[in-house]
Amino acid sequence: MNLRIPFHRVNWVNTSFLFVISLVGIVGAPLYLIKYDLNWILWSLFTFYMISTGLSITLGYHRLFSHLSFKAKWPVRLFTLVFGACAFENSVVHWASDHRRHHKHTDHDDDPYDITKGFFWAHIGWILFKLDAEQPIDNVKDLQRDALVRFQDRFYVWIALLVGLIFPAVVGYFVLDGWVGALGGFLVVGAMRVVLVQQSTFFINSLCHCVGDQPYSTRCSARDSWIMALVTYGEGYHNYHHEFQHDYRNGVKPWNFDPTKWTIMILHKLGLVSDLRRVPDNKIVGAEMKEAQRKAEEKLAQLEAQEGSLNEPTVARVHELLDQLKENISELEDIVARQVVASKENLKRWRRETRELINGLGELRLQSA
Ligand SMILES: [Zn+2]
Ligand SMILES: [Zn+2]
Repeated sequence: MNLRIPFHRVNWVNTSFLFVISLVGIVGAPLYLIKYDLNWILWSLFTFYMISTGLSITLGYHRLFSHLSFKAKWPVRLFTLVFGACAFENSVVHWASDHRRHHKHTDHDDDPYDITKGFFWAHIGWILFKLDAEQPIDNVKDLQRDALVRFQDRFYVWIALLVGLIFPAVVGYFVLDGWVGALGGFLVVGAMRVVLVQQSTFFINSLCHCVGDQPYSTRCSARDSWIMALVTYGEGYHNYHHEFQHDYRNGVKPWNFDPTKWTIMILHKLGLVSDLRRVPDNKIVGAEMKEAQRKAEEKLAQLEAQEGSLNEPTVARVHELLDQLKENISELEDIVARQVVASKENLKRWRRETRELINGLGELRLQSA
């Protein structure tokens, strides 16, 4: 990383807040828990806030407001706007504006959390330092038409303080030992929870652009990782997300860990959200196959250009799998041209054969001459 820290451009409001809340959440809250602990009501409130705030960012701020990947009735919009504010990640108008620029200019200068400026920058540095003049908020006009969004933008700080920090303290006061309980509610349900949810969001901008695979495309740095999905409410399938950003699913396979997707599905069953946008399987499997072909051809060319003998049976097998893959791709293209949908059996076979090729590539290496 070659980033000189521009101290004259420190955003003091953000920096002071993040410093204080992190100190209180990471040091103050554990010290409190060692001495006092919470009762079950406050632990339940902590769980409720962790889920509500985290999902309000991933389901609300991200998939609903930034990407319009489904439509939501006002109770869902109101809930995610109120609890999204409680994550102290700015109002949705600013968040979505930054995020839409992140997708439009990924890995380039106009990407607010550009990973090519280093891990620290993408994780938190971009919030602490104002490198450029404030960007105009001109890419979220659709959101600003919503009165609830305008309300949240106007009263963001008050909502965040009242619902995010003060309310848990008030509950603590009444359910656990007066002021000691109030301190517990503030430190654990307030500060510690804010820090945990913020770090989870920050990981999406940093680690999800460094850790994992790129099964759909290598056009940008975004990666898929099930481990990251575990700590980001399902947002860890970031390679898929960057390739198909309007899909309401990030973990597109049925077995992927994506609680945000499951919540959207439940809300859909309840009639609270509608118009869920999905990328057709044809397109998804097509992207996987083309990316596998690109990787196979690149690796074969690389190895063939180097000195040393190749493991012949493996090479022959990879060539065979690659030929099969090319056949599958043209079969798919033919189906798409006829404007019909590929059968489940076809999709399943293509996926299996693509996986076999990728596994075969893993075994391809030069043997010592
Ligand atoms: Zn990204
Ligand atoms: Zn996104």
